[in-house]
Amino acid sequence: MGTTEIHEDGVRTLRVDSPPGSHMKNVLVTLVGEGPYILIDTGYPECANEVVAWVASETGGSLDTLLLTHHHQDHLGGAEAIVAVTGAATWAHPIEIELMKERAPSLAPAPLEDKEIVRLGEVEFKAVFTPGHSPGHLAFWCEARRILFGGDNVLMETSTWVGPPRGNLRDFLASLEVERALAPRVIYSGHGPPVEDPVGRIDALLHHRTRREGQVLEALAAGVETPEEMAASIYRGVGEKTMRIGTAMLAGHLEKLIEEGRVRREGVRYLLAE
Ligand SMILES: [Zn+2]
Repeated sequence: MGTTEIHEDGVRTLRVDSPPGSHMKNVLVTLVGEGPYILIDTGYPECANEVVAWVASETGGSLDTLLLTHHHQDHLGGAEAIVAVTGAATWAHPIEIELMKERAPSLAPAPLEDKEIVRLGEVEFKAVFTPGHSPGHLAFWCEARRILFGGDNVLMETSTWVGPPRGNLRDFLASLEVERALAPRVIYSGHGPPVEDPVGRIDALLHHRTRREGQVLEALAAGVETPEEMAASIYRGVGEKTMRIGTAMLAGHLEKLIEEGRVRREGVRYLLAE
């Protein structure tokens, strides 16, 4: 069974464990309001029944709106079941709506563009286009309470997966700057505890990526030419799964450096640009 936490007035989450083999340990489904209610993301398909039951018991069966941050399974998985039961009006970014079609064919979210607003009674949720982890990722900003519902961009316990083919590190870093500029009081994310010091955490994440990029450039200068070799030298002593994820993250760094004209690719080899 998942764990319910009440964080502040009208903001509660259900934390459900991830299925075996997942990258993240668990995922959070967030319910906002005291009626009308708005739900942000829906957990894995494997926990759809649990999320449906939780929403029914927390809301008395009347969910008005469902906001989806992006199309990944751990955020989209319960959406069809929840909408089938509640009829909630559903919103997502148009790029993500396209990507959702395969996984949730019966879902028909309305398109929500950057800066568009969804209202829930007195409260406004402004869509904040924050691509990088996924190409049409949205966060949702409640200006009056300075709360950002951040999806997967700013996590407390780990750094966000950003890798090819659909992740883009340049976009991701720009999105972190956008979220930093909002100066949120708190960020409720899709995984892990609330981010109580958003600007501090974002600075730490930016610093981490800068440091990693430095390591990538050093490795290239030393003649290390593939993400696999690079991962072996940067992530020492980690398990096979972490190594695989790390390798893809390094590929993301290399793609960014190519976009910036600082690195070039020859077949499977990456080289510093002259
Ligand atoms: Zn995700």
